[in-house]
Amino acid sequence: MIRIRLRRRGTHTEHLFATFRRFLWEVLFPIRRHIMAVIALMLVVSSVVLVLNQRLPFPSPGESILLDPTDWSLLFHRDPPLPARPDMRSPGPSIGGSTFVQPPLAILLYRAHAGDTMSGIATKLGMDIDTISSMNRVEGRGVHNVTVGETLRIPSQNGITLTLAPDFDGQCRTYGVSPEDVLAANALSRAQLWTGMRLFFPGVQHTGYARSLAVGVGVALPIHGWESSPYGWRADPFTGQRSHHSGVDLAAPEGSPIKSATDGVVIAAGYDGMLGNYVEVRAQLGYSYVYGHMSTILARDGARVATGSLLGLVGHTGYATGPHLHFEVRLNGVPQNPRNYLPGIR
Ligand SMILES: [Zn+2]
Repeated sequence: MIRIRLRRRGTHTEHLFATFRRFLWEVLFPIRRHIMAVIALMLVVSSVVLVLNQRLPFPSPGESILLDPTDWSLLFHRDPPLPARPDMRSPGPSIGGSTFVQPPLAILLYRAHAGDTMSGIATKLGMDIDTISSMNRVEGRGVHNVTVGETLRIPSQNGITLTLAPDFDGQCRTYGVSPEDVLAANALSRAQLWTGMRLFFPGVQHTGYARSLAVGVGVALPIHGWESSPYGWRADPFTGQRSHHSGVDLAAPEGSPIKSATDGVVIAAGYDGMLGNYVEVRAQLGYSYVYGHMSTILARDGARVATGSLLGLVGHTGYATGPHLHFEVRLNGVPQNPRNYLPGIR
């Protein structure tokens, strides 16, 4: 009865409803599993993107890729600090005494080409080299080596990246910057901070030895020599077996002067089966530098040395095939690649 009455009345709405029901049952229902699968896949992909976005410290606001390296200076612009506006002032007391609203950090990606240096790029942009090196190197490691095609991060304002300490407010006080400004620059809230993450500290620059390392003058060449064996895995010069070389070998004639690469204190001067006559100089920030295979040691244990002070003469004492300086950079006792610290070694 009902069906007959519906058909007889046959309103437009009822026709639409019937079509929709047919669409549901005849088109969508048979492919329901596919639809569920697509929805599930979209959910998984979006959660992965969200998680990655949280973990990466610097896909912060406004990161963009510079497509044409020849025109980068046109694409790049530095926003001057915005004047303070009562409705936009960051809340709470400002320790750094800032009178402007901290703009969020924007990062452009710059692809290095032949002849580029970290300091050259900084100069062209009118930025502090600390800023460029800090954004792309940790404590100035590898400031000297910009490789062609390497992508460098260029921040929109001066400042340095630091590892977040457990006491965020204390760390901000140490560097004379307000926590609100740091949070604003990184477009983060306090709840999103985690100890150990890298954060951009706007307007902050390195001081002391950290600055020397950041601008690439923390370590001077200890000798006029040529790199005869690089740092890293190599065939042992005596046995031919694969072994790790913890320093760089700089070959020079026997008796050539070896000069201290940094200011510091001699913490060891003696003989070692492998290093031969060697000297270790401790610098700041946990760095020490080792000079091996000397023919003669000319530095006293415990002596203060300056960059360029004579430490000894080139020889081939210890585990060495010919006269050369074995030079090591140690950070908290762990050998680092000297290539990342020394100028003129590529
Ligand atoms: Zn060596």
